[in-house]
This record gives sequence, C-alpha cells and structure tokens, in this order.
Amino acid sequence: MTVTTQNPAVAQVDSSVNTESLTQVTRYKVYTQRQFDKIEPLKRLSPEQRFEIEVVANVLPFRVNEYVIQELINWDNVPNDPVFQLTFPQRGMIAPEDYDRMADLIKRGADRKEITQLASEIHGHLNPHPAGQQEMNVPVYEGEPLGGMQHKYRETVLFFPSQGQVCHSYCTFCFRWAQFVGNTELRFASHEAEKLHGYLKNEPEVTDLLFTGGDPMVMRTRHWENYLEPFLTPELEHVQTIRIGTKSLTFWPQRYVTDEDADDLLRLLERLVNQGKHIALMAHFNHWQEMQTPIVREAIRRLRDAGVVIRAQAPLIDHINNDPDIWVRMWHEQVQMGIIPYYMFVERDTGAKRYFELPLARTHEVYQQAIQKVSGLARTARGPSMSAGPGKVEIQGITEINGEKVFVLRFIQGRNPDWVQRPFFAKYDPEATWLDDLKPAFGADKFFFEDEYAQMAGDGKIIY
Ligand SMILES: *Cc1c(COP(=O)(O)O)cnc(C)c1O
Repeated sequence: MTVTTQNPAVAQVDSSVNTESLTQVTRYKVYTQRQFDKIEPLKRLSPEQRFEIEVVANVLPFRVNEYVIQELINWDNVPNDPVFQLTFPQRGMIAPEDYDRMADLIKRGADRKEITQLASEIHGHLNPHPAGQQEMNVPVYEGEPLGGMQHKYRETVLFFPSQGQVCHSYCTFCFRWAQFVGNTELRFASHEAEKLHGYLKNEPEVTDLLFTGGDPMVMRTRHWENYLEPFLTPELEHVQTIRIGTKSLTFWPQRYVTDEDADDLLRLLERLVNQGKHIALMAHFNHWQEMQTPIVREAIRRLRDAGVVIRAQAPLIDHINNDPDIWVRMWHEQVQMGIIPYYMFVERDTGAKRYFELPLARTHEVYQQAIQKVSGLARTARGPSMSAGPGKVEIQGITEINGEKVFVLRFIQGRNPDWVQRPFFAKYDPEATWLDDLKPAFGADKFFFEDEYAQMAGDGKIIY
C-alpha cells in the first residue's frame, strides 16, 4: 500500500506493514435477509436454527458482512458466541405470538407484501421511538425544522448525515433499529451540510458536534471533507470537539487501513487536530472479542497516530456481555491500546429489549464488580447510564436510608444543566429495567425534575 500520511512516525511504521496480511477480508461484502442462505458457516446450524434466524430477520434489521463472519465470530461457539449474538437474530428477540405468526407466513410461502405488513404491525409493539427523540429535540434554523439534527443538551449537537444512515453490519439490540426496517417515516435525514454549518454559526454555546447514524463512517472521505472542512474557519471556531459515533472499528476496521480513501480520511482528521480541534472517535465495543484482530489493532494505532482520541462506550446486555469479567478484560485492553472507557449504558426500552434487558439492580452489580477490578485509568467509564427523555441518569448505588432500600441516582447529563450532579432517590425495585419503572423514594409523589420536564415537553406528556 502507499504511504500517504503526513505524520513521519506513521509513515515509518506503515512502510514495513503489509496490510494485506492483517486481514483475510479487504473487499466489503454484505449479506442481508435476502442473501441469508449464501452465508457459508450458517450451514453448520440445524435447519430449525436457520429457520428461526430467518423468521426474526423478517422483523428486525439484519445485515452482516464477511469480515464479521470470517474473523470475529467463533463458529465453534455458536449460538453462544457474543459476536454471533450481536449480529444474528435470535428467536427470543420477538414475542412468542409474533414469532408464531411470522413463522406461519413464511412456512406457507406468503408473498413479500403480506410479510412486510405483519412486520410493520410487530414494529408498532416495539416502541420504535424511545425517549421522545423525534418530538423534542429537533432544532429550528431560519424557521425550518432541521430533520437530520438533534439538539438536546446545551453544548452538544447530534448530526445524522444522510450518507451515513446504514452500518457496516447491524447490531441485534440497536436502539435505532426503526430507521433500518424500511419505514421511511422513521428516518432521520439531512442532505444539507450548509444547514448544519449555518445553524452552528448562530449557536455559540455549542462546543461539541457529534456525527452519528446509522454509522457515519460508512461515508466516503469526500463527504467527510464536505462536512468537516468548514470547521477550520473562524465562524465555527467555537465548535471545538467533533465526535464521531461509530461501530466501524468492530465491523469494518479496514475503513482506516486498506480502504481506498483510508489515508485521505486520516489526513483530514489530522488536519483538524493540527488546527486545535479535538477529534473523538466514540467507539462501540460490546465485548473484548471485537478487539483482537490484527486489523482492528492497526486501525486503532493509525487513528491515534493521526491525533484522534478514541473513547469506548457500550450497553450492558444479556447474552453478550452480562458478566463483570467481560468488562474487566475489555476495559483493561482498551486502556492498554490507549482507548479511554467512557460509558456503560443500560439497554434502551425498544426493539429486542425483551431478549437483552437486565434489571437495573443487575446492571449496577456488573458495573460495580467490574470497576472494582480495574485500575483507576479504566474507571473513567461512567454508568450504568440510562439515556432517557430528561437526560442521562446514572445508577450510582443501592443503599438503605432510614430503613428504606433505595436506588441512588444522578443526572450525568440533563435537559436542564442545573439537574446535573444532584443525587436523587428511587424506591428499590428488583425488577425495574428503565427509569419509568421507578417510583420516588420516601413517599414523595414525584421526582424533583418532573414538573419542569413536563413543561418542556409542551403537551405535558412525559416520555422516558
Ligand atoms: C449522550 C448524549 C450526548 C452527549 O452527552 P455527553 O454527556 O457530553 O457525552 C448528546 N446528545 C444526546 C442526545 C446524548 O444522548
């Protein structure tokens, strides 16, 4: 490969690296529900197992690429393999009655239209828009709502570039699953880089811009140039941090190593860094198994050499990482590679939640046990945190006050910045899995933020 990065340290190392030998898969090849029967290793499963996957793949988004299949999944460990669980639909992900209805349609060879109709009906049961995201956070610019943006917290704007509305593979637990099931009404989209820049020029309080998706790293570098180069100008100087939320280090690390425009991408990021921007790649790792291949390690090394800071976040989910030791090893290895652990999330109340959810009490237990076993450098991971309507709510602990067992909670991030870092208390409930299951402790009739949040919602309807 050609050496094109400007950083001499990178150039020296790269010239001795044969990137082809870092991976067996350099050409991106993807399988969706339609090419399902072309996936070679699936033939090792029983016909019943394959049928179950097919049924659920007709309801929830399914997309997996050759790199994941060949280099991340340990097929000797299927179906328990964590990356298999992360990418292949499982029977328990939809309700038994929904499963049976879809299975019947497929068995009797129903047509596409009938299958799609039932799928949309099932989608309606799966809380497609958690946390009031569509209703409450859309910014307005020159009198027009900006569909591809969310501005929920004062200092940070989320942007969904229209070219980044798919992923290299789909996660079975994805909270944005509704964007990928073909219902265009559910899509966030924006074709307009100028509107993004125009809006931000008038918002001096915004210091952070977060590119998200889908996965924005599916975009070609020339699109990135279009979006990012204007941040080098004085009008956008107040936007100091550009975050990129991506699972590409898991699903396609080739993006940073062997893709045709990989070097151009790194050079672009390096240019922004050299001008004083903080470029943060918000990586999503659910399990240490995603971080073992030579190519992901090379991708991480190259990003860091370009001056990019990599932070890691992920939800805690049953069947994939419900074990403190998985987090201990993952956080430990991240710190070794120079990645900063950032958040442990609680699985959102949407999609395949029935399969992945864990009681809040368990999420706290996993977090606490994991944190206790790592060095202070890995204790930068906060959580378990619920990204709910009013803000990011962290479970800080479980304790007893005046004989009442309670959850101790705090806002890590709030719709009103004044809520942040105020401890508050909920009655302990061993079954609660989300904020809306919780009741205030000590006989209070509401949480301290509720009146204000209801007012913000306008119609007084509170969405968690
Ligand atoms: C998490 C999140 C952010 C960023 O919050 P930080 O606390 O700065 O990481 C911004 N917007 C939304 C909608 C979020 O969920």
